[in-house]
Amino acid sequence: MNWGLIGASTIASEHMIGAIRANSGHDVVSVQSSSPTRGKEYAAKHGITASTTSLSDILNGSDVDAVYISTTNEKHLPQAMTAIAAGKHVLCEKPLAMTVADAATMVRAAQDAGIVLATNHHLRNAGSHLAIRNLITTGRLGEVLSIRIFHAVMLPEHLRGWRIDNPLAGGGVIPDIVVHDADTVRFYLGEDPADIVAQELSGAMGVDVEDSVMSVWTTPSGVTVQTHESFTHPFAGSGIEVHGTKGSVIARNVMTQQPVGDILLRTASGEESIEYSLHNLYERSVSKFATAVAGDRQPAATGVDGLKSLAVAEAVKKAAVTGQRTTVDYGGY
Ligand code: NDP
Repeated sequence: MNWGLIGASTIASEHMIGAIRANSGHDVVSVQSSSPTRGKEYAAKHGITASTTSLSDILNGSDVDAVYISTTNEKHLPQAMTAIAAGKHVLCEKPLAMTVADAATMVRAAQDAGIVLATNHHLRNAGSHLAIRNLITTGRLGEVLSIRIFHAVMLPEHLRGWRIDNPLAGGGVIPDIVVHDADTVRFYLGEDPADIVAQELSGAMGVDVEDSVMSVWTTPSGVTVQTHESFTHPFAGSGIEVHGTKGSVIARNVMTQQPVGDILLRTASGEESIEYSLHNLYERSVSKFATAVAGDRQPAATGVDGLKSLAVAEAVKKAAVTGQRTTVDYGGY
């Protein structure tokens, strides 16, 4: 499968170009950037044959089978719609769009065109999260009562651009990190958070956008979820805990892009360290996408998954701004 990159981004540079090429038979053949100079330099650095400033150059190239969109968030909708109209399969970064309504437009367009639209939620591709989900679905924890998520990090300096000062590009910790936590919870439980209370902070790093948020969600089956996302915490470390009637999972350093972290299972029998696969998260995302394009299965995270994680993030934002308990609006999905 030949891929075109829409966006000369850090995530493509650090993770996705390598992940695509690590999948046998896959290559990155072109990149689109709004800047001709940056595009050329990016292509040269990564051994990509062609660079262009024109989306149609990428989409009309007969050698491109699929595109990976990793531009700033406000561009995902128009670029995905153009790619879908050109008949290209789309792996799009999170958040899928700026609003649930926009995400629904993308999902519908892909369905109507018979195109695979996937969301690059990497965490559900991690061996650690697959192992935790397996503990839940095989009943090792009994009935799940609550989940606690620790995802307060220090935003690396090289990412302190649009994320901390540009709400129009989708900046802020809620669109950036809450979507990942929402996707992980949905992946674990197989149900969608229903309502939310939240408080946010800004000013320590974020200008005009929130840089920290805490929220509590409830699910239809009665699970409570407590989450903390931040750009400003240098030493907190990440983690997730799932507490059930028969056992608790305490996982540390697993809300990350790397296949790392420790998982402890605590039950009446004592404590047990859980082993898991150490495969590359992004390589698995690409592999699942390719299987979906081949017609066999769904990608790891579908367009609807991206829409739903965004719906939770939207509700967290609304709850934080209004101070009101907020029902998540999945736009009919
Ligand atoms: P970047 O800021 O690196 O890239 C976004 C855009 O900024 C690029 O498309 C590029 O525009 C422009 N840009 C890049 N470098 C420069 C520069 N030096 N000077 C000026 N402009 C520049 O963003 P990220 O890679 O961090 O994020 C991109 C997307 O990926 C977002 O939607 C984000 O939410 C998502 N993401 C997902 C992750 C995951 O694990 N799933 C992790 C990180 C990000 P152009 O293309 O026009 O050249």
